[in-house]
Amino acid sequence: NSPLGKVRRAPPDKILGLTEHFNRDTNPKKVNLTVGIYKDDHGHVTTFPSVAKAQRIVDSHEELNKNLSYLPINGNEVYSKRVLDFLYRESCPDNAELLDKDKISFVQTLSGTGAVAIASKFLSAFISKDVWLPNYSWANHQNIFSKNGFENIHLYSYYDLSSGQVMVEKWLQELEDAVGRTDNVKTPQAILLHACCHNPTGVDPTREEWHTIIDKIHELNMIPIIDMAYQGLESGNLIDDAYLLRMCLAKGGWSNGLYLCQSFAKDMGLYGEGVGSLSIVLPPAARVENKLALDSQLKPIIRSIYSSPPGYGCRVAKVVLSNEALKQQWFRDVQNMVQRLHGVRHKLYENLQWPDLVNFEKQHGMFYFTRFKPKQVNELKEKYSIYLTNDGRLSLSGVNSSNIDYLSTALGKVSE
Ligand code: PMP
Repeated sequence: NSPLGKVRRAPPDKILGLTEHFNRDTNPKKVNLTVGIYKDDHGHVTTFPSVAKAQRIVDSHEELNKNLSYLPINGNEVYSKRVLDFLYRESCPDNAELLDKDKISFVQTLSGTGAVAIASKFLSAFISKDVWLPNYSWANHQNIFSKNGFENIHLYSYYDLSSGQVMVEKWLQELEDAVGRTDNVKTPQAILLHACCHNPTGVDPTREEWHTIIDKIHELNMIPIIDMAYQGLESGNLIDDAYLLRMCLAKGGWSNGLYLCQSFAKDMGLYGEGVGSLSIVLPPAARVENKLALDSQLKPIIRSIYSSPPGYGCRVAKVVLSNEALKQQWFRDVQNMVQRLHGVRHKLYENLQWPDLVNFEKQHGMFYFTRFKPKQVNELKEKYSIYLTNDGRLSLSGVNSSNIDYLSTALGKVSE
């Protein structure tokens, strides 16, 4: 009868739990299309040539290689400088003065997940306990916000399953109806926006739609949290894909800050190394003291969870970002990855000959959102040992020359 005895099993993780199931599957034809890890046409998780070169530099560098001591709580100084330059000078040149004027509070984080978690803890402690998430979204978002102090998690309509379109009008009407009625200066509410390659649907608002969305959330004094886990995977161009950040910065004047949660997991293939960042862009009126206060408050939050971020991956990222030739190679590596994903998407379409070409071609990024019902997803798993996430998301990176025909046949069968 002790409280310990009353602990019940939690449901398995919506994404990683499926890989456990996959690993136990004995069908030699099994295909795991659940996780967003890039694999080449041989089904191997590869290291980008730029990242592999950077690794060799790190490994052969006496001082970098031998120093295994702790990083500072807020991360490595040179890494921070390089990432800030990459994000705010190179990706957003029109707003580079934000850096010159020291308006950005920045910490290295334990990948993108760590960035969202630290942002949640900070926001819920000081500014807001209400957040709006898109419906659909990455399954971990609700988990992160609810476990890090957010009391109210609201869902905004994002994706219309029947048409495969983003429902901008409905989304903004919902915000207007709910947030517009509150005292949004006293009790501001946060909103999570996927920077590009919306996960899981692969469909993002157009630039024109983003203008309307940004105007509305600004008018409602909401707090934008931009989750940028797939920079480069939409167009193949890392800089182009920072458009949402550029547009939000151009709008400017976010009175409770603009939060950017950024990850190098996918675009540098540094998944397990945990390399990312959180930056908080302060409003123009913020004083030096405000920035220093934010910097100082982020530290005890990080300290209470993992003390300081891991060291190896950020050294590799730092070398890629510091060396112009390696950086250009990295840009090409991302482009090559995206080209392969485009090719797979196209080949699947040709094989399937489904009538909804518009939706097929409109989607981009690492995933194809099949819009299958749970019953169809289950049939793929049970009959064909093909694993998708339960919402019908299929990771294109797990598709290759050896399994595409088997996969196409199975997809065609369950869609009949
Ligand atoms: N946001 C979204 C939308 C994601 O898909 C992911 C990765 N699956 C993340 C954040 C965080 O990724 P990571 O912690 O691996 O950097």
